[in-house]
Amino acid sequence: MIKDNLISVEKNIVRACEKSGRSLEDVTLIAVSKTKPVELLMEAYDAGIREFGENKVQELVDKYEVMPKDINWHMIGHLQTNKVKYIIDKACLIHGVDSLKLAQEISRQAVKHSVTANILVEINIGDEDTKFGVADSGAAELVNEIAKLPGISIKGLMAIAPYVDDPEENRQYFVKMRNLAVDITSQLDDNITDDMVSLRELSMGMTGDYTVAVEEGATYVRVGTGIFGERDYSKL
Ligand SMILES: *Cc1c(COP(=O)(O)O)cnc(C)c1O
Repeated sequence: MIKDNLISVEKNIVRACEKSGRSLEDVTLIAVSKTKPVELLMEAYDAGIREFGENKVQELVDKYEVMPKDINWHMIGHLQTNKVKYIIDKACLIHGVDSLKLAQEISRQAVKHSVTANILVEINIGDEDTKFGVADSGAAELVNEIAKLPGISIKGLMAIAPYVDDPEENRQYFVKMRNLAVDITSQLDDNITDDMVSLRELSMGMTGDYTVAVEEGATYVRVGTGIFGERDYSKL
């Protein structure tokens, strides 16, 4: 079942790339496995998936310990400052950085563990009260501040678009993200080098809207339900 789901998600990504003239290598599918048991993740692994996304620190760590070591783990959830230390050497990319305070702790832990933390700055692209993320108007300033911290490399931007019935409604936000990355890049301080900031990555698009996100430039799509089925939070 998971293998079939993966085949259809991958087909949709291919089609979105063809439609928009993008190259398939520029899009990475992250299988969002939160709440799902290791057996199901292993089905995805056996079908070729090596990128997994989790939104809870404990769950990421638990799965990291028992699953094969050639997996790239993406921390896609809101990260609390006091939990950074548990994932600093386990997550390949931290998607949801939206404050200087969190970035400072990531920097501190990265230096302590002698690693470079790859991060994305989260944008509240739909300007929703219920969402984390920095407002687009404050994003350039935050990127410039975080860039100066040791042990951190800013790879791009991340957003959770509004929940909508018709994915076309979110196209405007994906376009806004693409333009924002260009805009912020033009506002980077002179002394910022490419290894400190290069906003190449756009993490956007979920089960409901990933094809539109790919058409508008997503380099990471985060798909959970479309691969693993509905989540059941009642058993947690
Ligand atoms: C859960 C989650 C997803 C996946 O959502 P689906 O709609 O199940 O694809 C993507 N991104 C983030 C940040 C999430 O928390």
